[in-house]
Amino acid sequence: MQSNVSVLKFGGTSVGSSERIRRVATIIKQTLQDTPASFPVVVVSAMSGVTDQLLRIARYACSQSEDEYTRELVVLRQKHLETATEVVSGEAECVALQHRLETAIEALSLDVAALRETAAQGHDVALRTAAVASWGERLSVLLVAAATNDLGIPAEPIRQEIIITTHPKTDPSQPFGVVVGAEPLNDETRANAQALVLPLVERGIVPIAAGFMGRTVTGFVTTLGRNGSDYSATVIGAALDCVEVSIYTDVDGVLSADPRQVANAHLLGSLSYAEAARLSWFGAKVLHPRTLIPIAHRNIPVRVRNSFRPHIRGTVVGPVDGQSGARAITTRRNLALITVESTDLFGAPENAGQVFALAARADAAPVAICSSSGHHLSFVVEEKSADSIIALLQLDMGDDWMVRCRRGLAACACIGSGFTSEPTSPARATTALAHEHIPVITQGSSELGITLIVADRDAERALRCLHRDLIAPVIPLVRHSHKEKAKVAR
Ligand code: ADP
Ligand code: ASP
Ligand code: MG
Repeated sequence: MQSNVSVLKFGGTSVGSSERIRRVATIIKQTLQDTPASFPVVVVSAMSGVTDQLLRIARYACSQSEDEYTRELVVLRQKHLETATEVVSGEAECVALQHRLETAIEALSLDVAALRETAAQGHDVALRTAAVASWGERLSVLLVAAATNDLGIPAEPIRQEIIITTHPKTDPSQPFGVVVGAEPLNDETRANAQALVLPLVERGIVPIAAGFMGRTVTGFVTTLGRNGSDYSATVIGAALDCVEVSIYTDVDGVLSADPRQVANAHLLGSLSYAEAARLSWFGAKVLHPRTLIPIAHRNIPVRVRNSFRPHIRGTVVGPVDGQSGARAITTRRNLALITVESTDLFGAPENAGQVFALAARADAAPVAICSSSGHHLSFVVEEKSADSIIALLQLDMGDDWMVRCRRGLAACACIGSGFTSEPTSPARATTALAHEHIPVITQGSSELGITLIVADRDAERALRCLHRDLIAPVIPLVRHSHKEKAKVAR
């Protein structure tokens, strides 16, 4: 019996086409051959763009736009059936795979019809929407398992939901077509994961599991929220006591900045859990912000790597430490700064608990807490939550408090362990923005870095200049004094 498992998670772009799915199958085969000490358990996302499409279908169903959602369903069906023809080589295997996909798409159509009915009756659509959204992953597992079998590797899709979750809370600000994330229940998930996955592992069959989705104890389909399949991989990994989780994506690993925004961003070979957690909290999409929660306290490493270039070692996120200075810069957009001011010059500290409890009641954790003094407290929240927080604060805090809000902001986070032990780092960050004439609205710092709040329109420029001045400095120009210039001219 194989006792050690390692989780391989493939994101949407990694399974975005037939050619990429075949590449994934090759990585699974290679892993099986190269790492005999652990057995792979695979977690996959929906093909890129498919969850967005399913959510469009859900919105059309909620607005009773049958023609539109039927059209989208036809496109979705076509995409998967065509992909099937290219991921398996044998005629019979292809027919069998297409049949499985057709059956799945029929079941999806039933879920869409049920959603439409629920919306028509004016009932809460959150759970019905989640059921529709989960189909992208359910279709993917069929394709990836078939492609893996095609390489002669025994693999089986797991059709049941592995992760057992809480009942999701509805987001009242966004009634239709929004996936509301539910939270995994550890003990229930552990029992379920072991029952569904380990029998396959014991028989030497590679389990291919759907990321993103789960179900409640009572059997309602749920999801872990948008981009949640990284999180599902570590939840499943922890439930199986895995030795490592590999997150395969479309970049070489975690880089010093988003390579789509900073051309000379470089690969970070290792990161501590704390650094990676902060990076994802402040907007680095490469890891879902909750990814490390199930595994960091158990020191299970996460390796982020490129499914297009699997020979590159990628980034190992683990309990490493000891680096100093800024290592990565990231931005989190669309924020609002809320300032609560008391007429009582010394009232703020005692009331901080009440302020944050109210923010929590609006389901909006502060993104960053920026400043406080005797009579004021300011913190940054997601712009979309600002109105509900302000309404609660105004209702609950009484007339002695004034609440102000500034919208259209972004947080630029410079991240690195021991950031402040290098005394010039914070100053270099603020000076970099000053040189670019980017006003810093407020800021906060800790030993893990500095967070500078700027206008959202300045965010990309701020990211680039911080990266240039703190991480990848440009070769300094040799400045000539006037005298030297004159000499050269002569
Ligand atoms: P997947 O579909 O595999 O889950 P995502 O699109 O969710 O992939 O995440 C990968 C993307 O994250 C990259 O294409 C990159 O643009 C973005 N990204 C943002 N910040 C970083 C960073 N610091 N390092 C690497 N990638 C980053
Ligand atoms: N397919 C889901 C989404 O697009 C989950 C994921 O890919 O991480 O949100
Ligand atoms: Mg992702």
